[in-house]
Amino acid sequence: MIDRERLADTFVTLCETDSPSRQEGKMAARLREILAPLAPEEVFEDESAGKTGSESGNLFFRFAGALAAEPVFFNCHLDTVQPGTGVRVRRRGDLFTSAGETILGSDDKSGIAALIEAMRVLREQKLPFRPVEYIFTTCEEIGLLGAKALDPAHIRARFGYALDSSGFGRVIIGAPAANRLRITVRGCAAHAGLHPEWGINAMILAARALAQAPDGRIDGETTVNFGTIRGGMASNIVPEEIYIEGEVRSHAEEKLVRLTDDIKGIFRNVVAQWQDKSGAARGRPDLDFVVEPDFPLMRLGADSRVIREIRRAGEHISLDLSLEVAGGGSDANIFNGYGLETAIIATGMTNVHSTEEQVELDDMVRLTELILALLTDEKIP
Ligand SMILES: [Zn+2]
Repeated sequence: MIDRERLADTFVTLCETDSPSRQEGKMAARLREILAPLAPEEVFEDESAGKTGSESGNLFFRFAGALAAEPVFFNCHLDTVQPGTGVRVRRRGDLFTSAGETILGSDDKSGIAALIEAMRVLREQKLPFRPVEYIFTTCEEIGLLGAKALDPAHIRARFGYALDSSGFGRVIIGAPAANRLRITVRGCAAHAGLHPEWGINAMILAARALAQAPDGRIDGETTVNFGTIRGGMASNIVPEEIYIEGEVRSHAEEKLVRLTDDIKGIFRNVVAQWQDKSGAARGRPDLDFVVEPDFPLMRLGADSRVIREIRRAGEHISLDLSLEVAGGGSDANIFNGYGLETAIIATGMTNVHSTEEQVELDDMVRLTELILALLTDEKIP
């Protein structure tokens, strides 16, 4: 029932419709064009563009199904990472790569292509299916902005699946929570040759704190990273301000809180312990330590509805699914945070976020079969 070549064509068309984060307008228009003939009951774009700065809001397609079963949603993101402008797809046999110096965009267009093919099959074969919503988010790759700006009241289904993980046959049931740290250490500027004692060197204070802070893998479920630092004006000026960005991730909420507090304590102490050795400093150092919750914990039980249903669908098509815990954050974290149980399904894409990205047609076909099995199951437990 699945038309492999049609699926391949759709995939190539989507990949060759550029959609770097915030420039998802063309992709959104393309999806409206492709899905309109498949008779969605409702097409809806939310107001999130104002918050995300994208050309498009999040895009919802609702399909009324004839099966009297719980509605379900599928989610993919519209945007891609860079370099993602001017994508040309190369196909060798059934393997897709980018033809040039760009990414391919199978992250996440392999998932979108499978969703489109599934709906085409359902309509063509006039198969009864359960009510389903396709939710396409923007700006996933630059901080899950679309999902964060989404009003969950727009989603009717209570659970669903994000088609957005590499490899195949994997179902992600857990992902860490993360805090983003924005740290500003403030000292006092002074001429480094004429009046160094007037100054307070913010760079030295920041370095002291960073040298004491935990970093890298803390334990099996927790990591810390300091990723950017900037500040200072010139080698002859005592630096007044240093800005550092970092993050803490953990699969355990209490460790996330504790490590974040530890790091804050280290920066506070370093600033508090500063001593004015010459007695001439023009001020005292100061600290801004901003903790921004980035995404919440995701943890699904192996016997939760969302997992039971996908396993059953896998069994229908003789596909072994392995349940795994991942280290990254994605839209699914945000959806789970809204109280919508959301598992992540691998789409077959590999080497994502690189110019070596690739996907096999067979995997997208199998993914389409999995979606169809889930949507047409008449005896949902
Ligand atoms: Zn992705």
